[in-house]
Amino acid sequence: MIVMKFGGTSVQDSSAILHVASIAELFGSEQLLIVSSACSGMTSDLLKLSTDSVHISDEERSLRIDGIEDRHNSIAQSLGIEKQVGVRIHELCDGLRKTCEGVALLGECTPRSSDAIASFGELLSTVIIQGLLQLHHSAIWYDAREIIKTDSAYRRAHVDFDLTQSKALEKLKPLFDSHRIIVTQGFIGSDSEGNTTTLGRGGSDFSAALLGAALHADDIIIWTDVSGIASADPRIIPEARFMETMSFDEARMLSYFGAKVLHPETIIPALSKNIPVHVRNTFKSEDKGTTITQHGDKDANGFRSVIGTHNVTCLNISGIPGKDYHTNTQELLHQITQLSGKQPLIHARVGESETYVYDAPLHNLSQCINKEHNLMNITLEEYSLISAIGPNLRSEHSSKAVGKFYETVLQADSRPVFISGIQPQTVSALVAPDCAIDILKALHHHCS
Ligand code: ADP
Ligand code: ASP
Ligand code: MG
Repeated sequence: MIVMKFGGTSVQDSSAILHVASIAELFGSEQLLIVSSACSGMTSDLLKLSTDSVHISDEERSLRIDGIEDRHNSIAQSLGIEKQVGVRIHELCDGLRKTCEGVALLGECTPRSSDAIASFGELLSTVIIQGLLQLHHSAIWYDAREIIKTDSAYRRAHVDFDLTQSKALEKLKPLFDSHRIIVTQGFIGSDSEGNTTTLGRGGSDFSAALLGAALHADDIIIWTDVSGIASADPRIIPEARFMETMSFDEARMLSYFGAKVLHPETIIPALSKNIPVHVRNTFKSEDKGTTITQHGDKDANGFRSVIGTHNVTCLNISGIPGKDYHTNTQELLHQITQLSGKQPLIHARVGESETYVYDAPLHNLSQCINKEHNLMNITLEEYSLISAIGPNLRSEHSSKAVGKFYETVLQADSRPVFISGIQPQTVSALVAPDCAIDILKALHHHCS
């Protein structure tokens, strides 16, 4: 059995969804668990709708939901399956209407409502995919919220893997006795009360890995819009080279430090069950893509990839350690996580000051700081985070490449903040946003 995840661009319109169907064909009689994202842009639209529902007029809200219904209906129509899926699309959009109406009446969009509204994107896209696959295969739609069980930390819920695994084995596995294909949603789950939760933006990759590990899949394939993991984001550096193999550790670092191609938590479940993860191109299914395994290319020296994460904010707290200082710091960090849904990417202590790096723009973080916190000695600064990743960066054979990293960054930025020693596979620097792209391009020349 193979778990296949299709990202937003892979299901963005009828022609993309036809590629999904031909990939299902390509795998012959293999059992497939298809995990899909929402059509591209839909989650962002829904999240905006959820907060806007507090203040927009009833007419405006209706118009926007009609637009969402129209987009899905027209995809279904182009695929010739409107008869099969039209009623389901309408029912789901009615559910969306009621949830948004609740937000409008309450005058507040709670994190719980926001997750409930965001979930409609994946619910809708999977209805269309299953409807199309059903024409030629025995394919069944299943609600991921019955399987992926989480706590109630809305917007970025934590998964209870043991419970999820037992639900997957109990409810999904038997479906393969009568169906070749199961279609379910990425990104969404539910808490112990049955409320809808989400796993954080880009979380469908993680859903696929969780289900793959739970069901002991032979492979997990992440189908996306590029032909694998490259030495840099191909949108920024078009000459970036796709890698054939990569170790779990290297892939984990790459996604942790911001390579959007994989959600950072994806590797953990796959690693725990030693299941190969493949990253492949939906629109060029003949390309081999990248295979991530335990060993990968562990012997490579120097750095193999460079990553730039823009709009990261560095929070610096200094003060005399004492009871109030610790309590205030803990409270501030908790507040940031609650309001922004972010945990610090990096935490470093230098003398009496502590630095936390968040993958969030400055204005998001400054909103989290209240008057009491202002009494603490806090500074906030926006940077770009540049990282170079390689499986053996601490080895002697990589020292020249690491030297090149420092040299290249210093040539472009007079006061970078270097971060090293966090993980053996990375060297990073916080640099001024306006020189980040030039640094990335210059560093890319030194990728091995
Ligand atoms: P999906 O919607 O399929 O989940 P994403 O947009 O989340 O797709 O991730 C794919 C994108 O990741 C690519 O289009 C590419 O621009 C970006 N990306 C960033 N870094 C890398 C990298 N090192 N290798 C490949 N793609 C990368
Ligand atoms: N649809 C969700 C998002 O846009 C999850 C995903 O695509 O992985 O964040
Ligand atoms: Mg993604």
